[in-house]
Amino acid sequence: MKSAYASISKSALAHNIARLRQQAPNTKLMAMVKANAYGHGMLQIATSLNHVDALGVARVEEALALREAGVSTEIVLLEGFYTDSNIGALAAANISTVIHCEHQLLALENAKLSQPMKVWVKIDSGMHRLGFSPQQFESLKLRFYQSNNIQQNPGFMSHFASADESNQDYTLSQIACFDNCVQGLQGQQSLANSAGIFAFEQSHRDWIRPGIALYGVSPFAHLSAEDLGLLAVMELRSSLIAVRPHQAGESAGYGRIWRSPHDTYLGVVAIGYGDGYPRTAPEGTPVRINGRIVPIVGRVSMDMLTVDLGPKPMDQVGDEAIIWGAGLPVEDVAKHVGTIGYELVTKLTSRVPLYYKD
Ligand SMILES: *Cc1c(COP(=O)(O)O)cnc(C)c1O
Repeated sequence: MKSAYASISKSALAHNIARLRQQAPNTKLMAMVKANAYGHGMLQIATSLNHVDALGVARVEEALALREAGVSTEIVLLEGFYTDSNIGALAAANISTVIHCEHQLLALENAKLSQPMKVWVKIDSGMHRLGFSPQQFESLKLRFYQSNNIQQNPGFMSHFASADESNQDYTLSQIACFDNCVQGLQGQQSLANSAGIFAFEQSHRDWIRPGIALYGVSPFAHLSAEDLGLLAVMELRSSLIAVRPHQAGESAGYGRIWRSPHDTYLGVVAIGYGDGYPRTAPEGTPVRINGRIVPIVGRVSMDMLTVDLGPKPMDQVGDEAIIWGAGLPVEDVAKHVGTIGYELVTKLTSRVPLYYKD
């Protein structure tokens, strides 16, 4: 009997890359492998992504770990360096960096490098998180071409705040803002995250930057992965470790937050918040056992959760429980929990082994 594990399908990953290539046929593809490849295992995913043009990471440590593992693909550090002393290590490892503020620009200009670095300049077109404001960009833009430490030409990128929403107005204003900034400038352009790739063809430009879509999870609330032609890469499974009769009116689990309205059988599944399953999952959150959906009842604990199997279950100890995957998209679980699929897949803990297939 197996406790919680995730099965990661390399063929689903390859399918999703092909699907993205079909959606944006004339662009380069920067595959996001930050945050342990959204929980899918950064090194394994990076080494099985043969046909991508670059890998995107958020942290210096992630970029260096990829190089140490022998990955030779172009790597882009999306938030840039936090500490000026990292510039040398990044340059030595041939890692491209984003710069999003004047401090980073100055540090890069002043660095002693033997070779210029490949640089992406981040413009804040409306996300208002990182990036040069349009005014700042206008006043600094010549410096991106003048520094000997910046490989010519620099690239220009921006990030969408709400490309997943059905109202497209804000994203269109972000695209217009970006275009206004980069008008007449030489250099590659990149705007589209997963939602942008599917919803805004005019945002494809030179490079697309898919993250969640690579892993077969929909970035949209109103469209499923299946609607988009994507296949879930991760399936999270565990086992029933107990099947127990339970009387009407009795509670189950910590805090006694649920009482059974009827005589029933409860199943105990070996997964809990110690594995990264959210403790906040409310009553009714779906689990799939023997081809049917059963509801979580009571509180999720560290190592276990309980489901209501109904009064005459055929289920037995040792039967498999699909936490998400085939027949139960992670997006559905996320809706019950009040979060997004991104968070659920990314937050699995190191106790959950990842097994790779095909
Ligand atoms: C994470 C990230 C992406 C990918 O976003 P998804 O919604 O997962 O496709 C793209 N660009 C940047 C700058 C990011 O940080």
